[in-house]
Amino acid sequence: MNIESLLKYQKKDEELFRVEQKISNSPYRKKANELTAVAKKSQMKSAELEAEAEKLIAEIADLKEKYNVNKTKSEEMLASKIEDMSFEEVDKINALKSKILSNLNVLEKMLQKSAENINRILSEFNKTKKLYDEARVQYTVCKQKIDEETKALEPEKERIKKELVALEKAVEPEIMAEYKKKRNDNIFPVIVPLEGGNFCGRCRMELPKVAISRLKEKGVITCEHCKRFIYLKA
Ligand SMILES: [Zn+2]
Repeated sequence: MNIESLLKYQKKDEELFRVEQKISNSPYRKKANELTAVAKKSQMKSAELEAEAEKLIAEIADLKEKYNVNKTKSEEMLASKIEDMSFEEVDKINALKSKILSNLNVLEKMLQKSAENINRILSEFNKTKKLYDEARVQYTVCKQKIDEETKALEPEKERIKKELVALEKAVEPEIMAEYKKKRNDNIFPVIVPLEGGNFCGRCRMELPKVAISRLKEKGVITCEHCKRFIYLKA
């Protein structure tokens, strides 16, 4: 098989690879990923706060109900006529009254604490929303920059691709198809020389004797470890 033509193809393909790397390593892309993470985190935080608020609202409703029950009881008691009561009855009523008063006191404090918690949640919610909105705005700017960068490199990519199509003709179709498959799997370089007599030129895995003799026979083998083509350097 004609290794030289494949190596020539790969040399040109490296130019394309560099352009692709330039696009994917753009600082704007990195920033956009960071912003996406921030937005996701804010959304998760919002969901947590929402759940917390819901729980608190249910608690407040429960406290209010208890408060109203106690209040009604105390009003009923105020309306009852002390004049017609025995000492025992008055004592009982007084004990109940102080219990209700203390209940109301506790409930009032609890309600106040709940209100404070609601305020805290609201302020955290606003803070989270602000973070999200800021990330959203910055993301839009980044996305635009990425699109601009990608678009600017498009002519260069197209030029290289055309040259690759021309070079492709000299390569055996079977090996070309395999090359492209590896390339699509983000493997680059796709073809590397054998090094030191029995090592993969990329991942340095030591190749067994049987692989070396196959390489000598066929001119190219695939590295079991990094899946690259290995060729025998002339
Ligand atoms: Zn390897």
